[in-house]
Amino acid sequence: MNFSGTLLNWYQRNKRDLPWRKTKDPYFIWLSEIIMQQTRVEQGTPYYKAFIKNYPSVKHLANAPGDEVLKLWQGLGYYSRARNLHEAAKYIATELRGKFPESYPDILKLKGIGEYTAAAIASFAFQQPYAVIDGNVYRVLSRVFGITTPVDSTEGKKVFKELAYELLDKKDPATYNQAIMEFGAMYCKPVNPDCEQCIFSHTCLAKAGKLVKELPVKQLKTKVRERHFQYIVLRYKSLVWLKKRTEKDIWQGLFDFPMIETIQALSETELKKSDFWKKHLSKLDPSIRSHSATYKHVLSHQRIFATFWEIKLKKKAQESDWTETDISRIFEFPVPRLIDLYLETGPESLS
Ligand code: SF4
Repeated sequence: MNFSGTLLNWYQRNKRDLPWRKTKDPYFIWLSEIIMQQTRVEQGTPYYKAFIKNYPSVKHLANAPGDEVLKLWQGLGYYSRARNLHEAAKYIATELRGKFPESYPDILKLKGIGEYTAAAIASFAFQQPYAVIDGNVYRVLSRVFGITTPVDSTEGKKVFKELAYELLDKKDPATYNQAIMEFGAMYCKPVNPDCEQCIFSHTCLAKAGKLVKELPVKQLKTKVRERHFQYIVLRYKSLVWLKKRTEKDIWQGLFDFPMIETIQALSETELKKSDFWKKHLSKLDPSIRSHSATYKHVLSHQRIFATFWEIKLKKKAQESDWTETDISRIFEFPVPRLIDLYLETGPESLS
């Protein structure tokens, strides 16, 4: 049996029962694809269910306030995905009168949709012959066919794309695409796949050449940037202050606390000598109540080291770009996972 036939047989016997596999609605499929990118199924499924419950149609999503969408997304990370999802929903609701585009080129025009997602929607919802190529597909193809060309090179992208289209089952691209992704996610895993029991154990070139660990090849290593955040958690009676992140940076549109970014951790003396302290706090009679241990938070390209300084004020803060809120309402704001973790672990000044 050829590659596709073997794969489809495996899929029929091993596929997981996932809610978005039971629908042909492009809106639901789109939601599931955006939510599941870089997310494990166990983590993403409750988000998928919450989104379709709160926004049962693209129009419902388009009409939702931006902060509400971000709040529902909270904890998934990569917040630009949620912002793009919302933008694209508004575009469909207004410019396309609520009708989800059906052709691959039109789907590709939507904000936040790349070739992979467009191929997934076009094939799953409309049975169009577009091959999905994600990390799972690169891994399976590079191993089974022993391809050592780096997957992130121009040449590699061309080689894998040609092979993916050659193998695609044109009569049932939806099932074939699901099958190859499922095989990569469930069986031919990045680390220690069970090659002896594999359906491709006699034909896989990576297994034969003892190259399983080496494939797929990547040429570029991602550079990780280290950042130090000094969060200033101000407390006046039952009030605290948040700040909406408006700059083009991580967590755009979410709320965190007023913050100083430094090149390394600060001492109490350094904090009191800082421009931030002089400009925003010195007139408010501040007293540092405590500071947290360092929180280390890892993102795909950044490593954040955050300290939360809990400061009591004798006068109320009056900054126009800070958002004042009663402590009891702080959980209503969409915040990054780092802030959520801090709130969950029980900061002294908020108790
Ligand atoms: S034999 Fe191993 S490397 Fe090859 S496809 Fe199977 S699980 Fe993947």
